[in-house]
Amino acid sequence: MIEFDEIVGLNNDSIPLEIELSGICNLQCPYCDPVNHNGERPWADSSMLLKTLDKIYKECKKPFIITLVGGEPSLWPDAKYVLPLIKKIDNRNFIRIVSNGIRSYKWFNIHKNYLDGVLLSYHSSGKPIEKWIKNINKIDIPYAISVLGDAKTWEDVMYNYNYVKENSTASGIQLKAVTPRGGSKDVTYTEQQKEIIRNSLCILKDDIKNWPKFWGELKYKNKYLDKFSNGHPGLNFSNLMFSGKNNFKGWKCNAGVNRFTFKGTGKIHGTSGCDIRNDIGNWHTGEIINFYKEPAICKYEFCNCATDVGISKTKL
Ligand code: SF4
Ligand code: SF4
Repeated sequence: MIEFDEIVGLNNDSIPLEIELSGICNLQCPYCDPVNHNGERPWADSSMLLKTLDKIYKECKKPFIITLVGGEPSLWPDAKYVLPLIKKIDNRNFIRIVSNGIRSYKWFNIHKNYLDGVLLSYHSSGKPIEKWIKNINKIDIPYAISVLGDAKTWEDVMYNYNYVKENSTASGIQLKAVTPRGGSKDVTYTEQQKEIIRNSLCILKDDIKNWPKFWGELKYKNKYLDKFSNGHPGLNFSNLMFSGKNNFKGWKCNAGVNRFTFKGTGKIHGTSGCDIRNDIGNWHTGEIINFYKEPAICKYEFCNCATDVGISKTKL
């Protein structure tokens, strides 16, 4: 396991921002929190979304790296009208979408002038893998695939992962551990399965290396490096989680300083999974309460969300 004393998130000259557009989805995966697919959280008012982005842009004066998540963002009825307006705030804004790839490739291609990348997740509760690949291979935007590695259906997971590797035109592929609610201590993979997940990351095309965050790998710094590693193999979320190194208690964490999540409830948090700074404002009403200037001190035993692990953090 690599020693590190700093994880570097996205570059400091941009603002990573994740937007949970709704709790509406076209699948119902067994490991998913129902709030993410049962429709209780409808699509928010897009004019408030744009107003809030504008306020944050004026305060931070940096381009955004926006990740649209759901539910299923490809069902968003306002996409065609809002995506060009996000680019209009600053044409350097980078927009990517996290999708289950159930919608026709045509939807993605219609929006290709405003979507810079697609992060596809394969869930076995959707289409059979052969049919799924046939559709997504026609997407005309660089994309990467995570195959969800549910320990309960491991044989199918391996078949799906290998099928994707051999038949997709993806820029990168990885197996992603399913993190049960309750945290990494409850993950019930065998040692062999953990090893397979750890070593599953494959970069197949160079275009993915130009994404603002090198997909799948974490940048880090340690006492042997005089500059930051960039996509060095061996440090990624699964790797950290399985070795219990996703523990940053007492570290300085940039949640809420250079990182925002627009939650499905309307609240603006500084993180995706943890609640260290959940009082920044509300994007459903356009209200901003706090702009934090200093990092938080982590008080949790485990950082259980892959996105949160990627927030810049430094050992004190
Ligand atoms: S595709 Fe994603 S949001 Fe939809 S049910 Fe599955 S895990 Fe939940
Ligand atoms: S658990 Fe929260 S405070 Fe701690 S490192 Fe992760 S995001 Fe930051």
